[in-house]
Amino acid sequence: MKKITGVMVYYHFICKRKLWYFNNDLNMEHNSELVGMGKLIDENSYGREKKSILIDETINIDFLKNWKVIHEVKKSRKLDEAGKWQLKYYIWILRSKGVKIEKGILDYPLLRKREEIFLTTSEEEELMEVLGQIQNIINMDLPPEVINKAFCKKCSYCELCYI
Ligand code: SF4
Repeated sequence: MKKITGVMVYYHFICKRKLWYFNNDLNMEHNSELVGMGKLIDENSYGREKKSILIDETINIDFLKNWKVIHEVKKSRKLDEAGKWQLKYYIWILRSKGVKIEKGILDYPLLRKREEIFLTTSEEEELMEVLGQIQNIINMDLPPEVINKAFCKKCSYCELCYI
């Protein structure tokens, strides 16, 4: 079984085709958001909290406060649901390693907003189903259907989907 990364959980909620492309090493995101986010974090005054922690080569946490609160930095709230589940996944992974994570916080520095995220027992079950679905998708021989959403125009795989 392939390790599931936080980005894969994020893409699952955005577009399953994007998840498939990403996992098949068609990674075209070098431009962009991830690099931009790093810059954003550096420019923020988060003090001495640990930054960008890579765990198990699976999840890359933006930063962790007192080993209890995980922060994930996002640019906008447009794809909120995906960001929430990515963070719930981080909470679950760290708890499964014995770290007593209380909650996550989605930070939107550009909007000067933040939102607290929790992982309930029923959501944990939902998350397990999502992880199973992700394994199924990445094992498919062909990518899932194009989703035809407005944000496809900004997707790095747009040319592959709409040729
Ligand atoms: S262009 Fe649209 S359909 Fe294609 S991978 Fe991106 S989000 Fe998915």
